[in-house]
Amino acid sequence: MENKLKPETLCVQAGWQPKKGEPRVLPIYQSTTFKYDTSEQMARLFDLEDSGYFYTRLQNPTNDAVAAKIAALEGGVGAMLTSSGQAANFYAIFNICQAGDHFVCASAIYGGTFNLFAVTMKKLGIDVTFVDVDADEDELNAAFQPNTKAMFGETISNPSCAVLDIEKFARVAHKNGVPLIIDNTFATPINCRPFEWGADIVTHSTTKYMDGHATAVGGVIVDSGNFDWEAHADKFPGLTTPDESYHGLTYTKAFGKGAYMTKATAQLMRDLGSIQSPQNAFLLNLGLETLHLRIPQHCRNAQTVAEWLESNEKVAWVNYCGLKGNKYYDLAQKYLPNGSCGVIAFGLKGSREDAIQFMDNLKLACIVTHVADARTCVLHPASHTHRQLTDEQLREAGVAPDLIRLSVGIENVEDIIADLKQAMG
Ligand SMILES: *Cc1c(COP(=O)(O)O)cnc(C)c1O
Repeated sequence: MENKLKPETLCVQAGWQPKKGEPRVLPIYQSTTFKYDTSEQMARLFDLEDSGYFYTRLQNPTNDAVAAKIAALEGGVGAMLTSSGQAANFYAIFNICQAGDHFVCASAIYGGTFNLFAVTMKKLGIDVTFVDVDADEDELNAAFQPNTKAMFGETISNPSCAVLDIEKFARVAHKNGVPLIIDNTFATPINCRPFEWGADIVTHSTTKYMDGHATAVGGVIVDSGNFDWEAHADKFPGLTTPDESYHGLTYTKAFGKGAYMTKATAQLMRDLGSIQSPQNAFLLNLGLETLHLRIPQHCRNAQTVAEWLESNEKVAWVNYCGLKGNKYYDLAQKYLPNGSCGVIAFGLKGSREDAIQFMDNLKLACIVTHVADARTCVLHPASHTHRQLTDEQLREAGVAPDLIRLSVGIENVEDIIADLKQAMG
């Protein structure tokens, strides 16, 4: 029923459907444990023979209601909340990759994800090959190896604002018998639903627009249920062969389209435990209730600010895919016809020091290590998140030394522009 409702309705209503006499608003189940009458009932839960709650590290009703809302918004069959976006991306890959495996990843991605993949997962024996987001299909195919298990990219990359050609990446992934995982944090399901373009699994840092108020760090993984694990059974033994930690149960046989999410919950969350607290899930749900109202306002404001920046003689360059003439304009028209996001990358004429002076002069826009919430904010990756890199290394990472990441909020756009103007002096 829920999947037929429009996104605006799902934002407000999906996930929590109270029965007679239950709270109208999603309650916070602030309980680690859940009660059963017999030992037998509890044993069946541990064997995955019955579904139900027994311990919040595995599942919690507040979290499940919010995950169900996000699954409905993305058009997926199931979802799991995680403690952060980092945990979501780690689990999404680790659920199908083990030591000795490999995956292919677009190079224009969030710096934290880059580090996770290139450094930490490498230490676990999982190898990654980075490909240019703009590479053609032959170049993308060339990155695949016999042990490749997944392909990964961001709908709109943070902070470089590149738009991924999801259909092209999905074609290449499927040709090579692996799923396409898309981090949809910046677009949100209001502006793009990657499953409609062939992606198999979607992740989010819910810390950003979904929460939208900068109150709760969190993440989510959503499964489309479309990838046929059995058709590539030799590549995904974790899903298609018996799990000894569950008495030899095989996820694809026991759970069908729910196999990937069940394994992520029953095995990874059980063993690694990066749960979202029910309190944070409650805050996330409040954010989701207005996502469909906030996102268009972020986009309208960002479009106006991007056009103003582009016409300003003190500005060297602007990267916003809503600008005609932008490298990603055509892809944005295809995948993000209603708008992309509130994040703009731009550079000022002058030196690194001029960029720093401009940011120090800002009054309404704050300097914060955050992005994609209601308040306009700025970050200079070269002096903050990427400050250990030289100018040369920055360019290699796709981050220009003068790049200022401006996250346009939902204030009045005239006030935002007035602030930028006074800061430029
Ligand atoms: C912030 C971010 C992450 C990491 O999420 P956290 O919630 O900070 O752990 C992952 N991907 C993208 C695109 C992000 O912007």
